[in-house]
Amino acid sequence: MSRNGSEAVCVRAGRYPVLVEPQTAGGCTMILNDTAVAGELSMSLDDLLASSKRARAQGEHRLGADQAEEALTRPEATPGQIARARELLMMHRLRLGDYQASVKQGLLALEYYTASGDRLAQSKVHCTLALAFSDTALNETALHHVLGAVAAARACANPTAEFWALSRSSLVHGAMGDAVRSVDLGKQALVLAEALHDPETSFTALNNLGDTYLTMARAMLSRDEDASQPFTDGLVLLREAVGLAQQQQNPFQEAIARTNLVSLLIGLGRHDEAREQGRQGKVLSTVHGYRSLEIDIDAQLAELVRASGCFDEATAMMEAQLVNPDVDDEPALLAKLHRSLYEMHKAGGRFAQALAHHEQLHAVTLLMTVQTAGLQAQMLINTIEIEQARHEVEKSQLEVGVERLRAKELDDQANTDPLTRLLNRRALDRELPWLMGHDEKGTRPLCAAMIDFDHFKQVNDVHGHATGDRVLTVMASMLRAVTRGTDLAVRVGGEEFLLVFAETSLAEATAACERLLTSVRGYDWGSLAPGLACTVSAGVAALEPNEPVSAWLARADAALYEAKHSGRDRVHVAQPVAVAIP
Ligand code: GH3
Ligand code: MG
Ligand code: MG
Repeated sequence: MSRNGSEAVCVRAGRYPVLVEPQTAGGCTMILNDTAVAGELSMSLDDLLASSKRARAQGEHRLGADQAEEALTRPEATPGQIARARELLMMHRLRLGDYQASVKQGLLALEYYTASGDRLAQSKVHCTLALAFSDTALNETALHHVLGAVAAARACANPTAEFWALSRSSLVHGAMGDAVRSVDLGKQALVLAEALHDPETSFTALNNLGDTYLTMARAMLSRDEDASQPFTDGLVLLREAVGLAQQQQNPFQEAIARTNLVSLLIGLGRHDEAREQGRQGKVLSTVHGYRSLEIDIDAQLAELVRASGCFDEATAMMEAQLVNPDVDDEPALLAKLHRSLYEMHKAGGRFAQALAHHEQLHAVTLLMTVQTAGLQAQMLINTIEIEQARHEVEKSQLEVGVERLRAKELDDQANTDPLTRLLNRRALDRELPWLMGHDEKGTRPLCAAMIDFDHFKQVNDVHGHATGDRVLTVMASMLRAVTRGTDLAVRVGGEEFLLVFAETSLAEATAACERLLTSVRGYDWGSLAPGLACTVSAGVAALEPNEPVSAWLARADAALYEAKHSGRDRVHVAQPVAVAIP
């Protein structure tokens, strides 16, 4: 488990991979920060986010987290700004050791960046999520995120993002115990870094690959294999990293690289050189106040003393470290110290002390396991909660859709005749004004045709009501055939229909009705009931300028009446209204 303090770099007990993308903020940072503090209340949302980002570069994670939290509460925040605030919060929370909150914010930010297609942002968020999951030993999930980070970086062809993704992949594979793949990915990252010509990136690549070689060497030693090659390779890289840090006058990076160098030299059995590197690392750490590094170098120096056979001195050094309250926050280091002390006391025949350290080792290990398990459970719950929230949103969207469909269905039902599926009177009242409104400018009139079955009562009486119904259904399809999408076909009563032809001359409407009558006359009604024959009569009227709808339809009705009285099975055309001459 790594410990997260206020350092800009996440520090692992005894090993120091650089985990955070360096910020390039230079001299302007301080000036901007002064403004930020002075005008914090009135800071614009963008300034607030920029300030939170600077706080990250300076390791002021509590301030940065507060600023990102505040950005989230701003009512004017756009979805993009909310995502940026979440991204910043994810990084600050991670550094403050609040993995759950970190992961939650990261997943929410990722959701936005995935939807908006921002590959670069996706890659960065994946990288940080990988770190959070890797630190809590959720390696499978971490792996998923490093793969996502590499894919997104390549998709947007951003070599810097790809470098960080590969570097993070290397660390995750290392944490999973796959040293070979870890080295391979570290080499790929180094190649990319060389092309980037950026000292920060180069340092990270050299230092991390050097550290990865150390892991590989230790794994080989544990299998009784010759580990001199990875030790030597790591040594070259770490020396280069120290040189680069010195050249850049970056004491923190120098201290990190020297500390890693100590571990490697101890592995190689070059104790004098290790001691010298440790001494230089310790001076840097003490002078600049790198507490975690200092503690870890102390532990390394004690291990060196032990390796050189001075057990009493090593025991005293380690016992002294245990009373340092800063060590209490570092369970991994505590475990390492108790293990060494247990082994040395046991070898020296001091069994009571050996037992005491063994018991404490057991307690620390248990605590770490319990804490990790609790954290893992909580993080999985967080992930599930976010999934669930997404499902809720999708569900409510579906419900809205269903509701809309249901409303449309109800509307359709209210406007449709159930037997023939033609429009009913209610639909006519709604559609007609619309049709008329559209006809205002047109030169071609609207025409209405009233259509009524001839002697329909007899159809029912002779062939039964059910047959009558089927006749009406067949009629509906004939009416549909004779009308266009812009026309209306309405069942206005029992066996009475109204057709409204849009933009149709009286002659065209009459012709359409004649075609309809021909179809009805010629239809094989005998297929419905033996001996059945049907005809209809129609009355057609064109809408006169300024004529009220009721008068127009009454003229169509009167024309139908004429058709009936002049022998049925015919179309009668209503005469235009006589213009009253004053
Ligand atoms: P006309 O040629 O003068 O129009 O004679 P008609 O028999 O068609 O006229 P009338 O209006 O007297 O009769 C209409 C008949 O239509 C009476 C009614 O039973 C029948 N009818 C009305 N609605 C339906 C229905 O939904 N299904 C059936 N099967 N018959 C219906
Ligand atoms: Mg009739
Ligand atoms: Mg009738």
